[in-house]
Amino acid sequence: MRSGKDRLDNTRRDLVTLGVALAAIVLFVGTGGSVLPKVLRAIAGQGVGPDRLLVNALLLNIALIIFGWRRYRELTGEVAERRKAEEQARILAELDPLTACLNRRSIGPEAEALIANATERGEAVAFVMLDLDKFKHVNDANGHAAGDAMLKESAQRIRGILDGTGLLARLGGDEFAVVTPFPANQPEQVERLVQSLISAISKPVDFDGIDLETTVSVGISTSAPDSPGQAQAMLHKADIAMYHAKRNGRNRFAWFEDSMESEVRFRSELEAGIRRGVAAGEFVPYYEKQIDLDTGAIAGFEMLARWESPNLGVVSPELFIPIAEEIGLIGELSESLIRQALRDARSWNPKLTLSVNISPVQLRDPWFAQKLLKILVEANFPPSRLEIEVTESCLHENLGLVHSLITSLKNQGVTVSLDDFGTGYSSLAQLRSLPFDRIKIDRSFVTNILEDKDSATIIQSIIALGEGLGLPITAEGIENEAVLAELRSFGKFKGQGYLYGMPMPAECTQAELAQLDLLLDQPNEDASAVGEAARQTAAG
Ligand code: C2E
Ligand code: CA
Ligand code: CA
Repeated sequence: MRSGKDRLDNTRRDLVTLGVALAAIVLFVGTGGSVLPKVLRAIAGQGVGPDRLLVNALLLNIALIIFGWRRYRELTGEVAERRKAEEQARILAELDPLTACLNRRSIGPEAEALIANATERGEAVAFVMLDLDKFKHVNDANGHAAGDAMLKESAQRIRGILDGTGLLARLGGDEFAVVTPFPANQPEQVERLVQSLISAISKPVDFDGIDLETTVSVGISTSAPDSPGQAQAMLHKADIAMYHAKRNGRNRFAWFEDSMESEVRFRSELEAGIRRGVAAGEFVPYYEKQIDLDTGAIAGFEMLARWESPNLGVVSPELFIPIAEEIGLIGELSESLIRQALRDARSWNPKLTLSVNISPVQLRDPWFAQKLLKILVEANFPPSRLEIEVTESCLHENLGLVHSLITSLKNQGVTVSLDDFGTGYSSLAQLRSLPFDRIKIDRSFVTNILEDKDSATIIQSIIALGEGLGLPITAEGIENEAVLAELRSFGKFKGQGYLYGMPMPAECTQAELAQLDLLLDQPNEDASAVGEAARQTAAG
């Protein structure tokens, strides 16, 4: 960047150059007129040469003119270059280098101008926020070059549909904004535009012969007529509506409504509450019985997280797990729950197993197996009593990483079950390539087994699959005796569900185990350490 002083110096130098050149021309016209003919005549050998002083003055003039001309040439070149640099700086400041869309900074002023124009014509303006769904997967699975290609192509398709009307900005990452005028009484025109944007973006993008696919979630807000300075507020509202569309299942659009703002506030209060709650130990394990359907005996427990929130009461994991995943707290939360569960389970009869659910986000952590081993060692808990449940959706993640993780867990002696089976469209090949120890049939099939023929058929084929692969099966969601009887007619497996009671806190689980004489007399202490101490006492 040139400073103001530099620029002033340059201008001064340019003026001096111009002055010298002009003076040279004036002098040349004045003296050259009489001197030049004499010089030429002397060169031709006709007559006496001019005065030496005058010749020098003439040469000096010629030199000055050449110098002036050169300086002028340089100057025009410099000006052109400076103009080019300034243009480039403007482009850098206003345009996104990857897609050549406007950027976050430049969209505001441009949108203000567009609103002013539209208002004059009596039109309204729509702010459309577009966010690609699961764009991170495209990047993770195919590399950043693929992600870039998808962003470029998406921008190109949006531009094609806008066809010169309205503005297009990339606000960062995989987020685009469109600002476009429309006849105030025809919001359906905006919806048509948005529908074509959604379908254009969901068409596959070819990248080196691979079809990259995504969908897009869209939020729309419209400008109140005649209120300048509102572009940022409108973008914010479109953003809120876009999040609403995402939460409602992605690949759709939503118009902004005032109630969404309070939803956003609730959500950020939840986030803050979860952060505080993790630190304050408000997250606790509950336990659901797992039954050997053949004998009716308790085989173990599945740990299910609960948030005992001082403000909200007992909160379901369906609400807080996805948020903990999003705000990067799931690892810490899960580890704390597992520590508590191992402490609880040590007082149970050692033949009882403990199952814990692991989020796909945790499976992306290459250190997960090591972290889990450390927790097991610290709790002095035999790995063979621990079962990890991973959902089918983790198979869509980085399969190589998941494979090595499951293998190292198994090497440590931990068993691994595939949870919610039947809902995630995993292929037989994937199922065979991963060394699972057990399949859990998703509760949606089990609960409907009597009413829905398809559910019964699916369960039967999962059982056949399990037999074929040598994988034992657990059926979850057994709510009543009729379902249990139907299931038992299909074969032998484990089961769980409300028929055996709701998930319970640790104290209730202990009380029930005590009644069944399945509680150790010497709970909570490190059994081997206690044994060692006892031996030493005896020897002493
Ligand atoms: P899941 O692993 O499929 O757990 C079973 C869910 O079904 C539990 O819901 C349980 O209360 C419920 N359930 C049990 N029996 C019945 C029944 O007979 N009928 C019906 N309709 N439902 C039954 P919950 O406790 O609300 O947990 C929901 C999900 O949250 C779990 O589904 C699991 O995916 C997840 N989750 C729970 N704890 C954790 C955790 O510590 N970490 C992770 N990553 N996820 C967890
Ligand atoms: Ca589970
Ligand atoms: Ca399940």
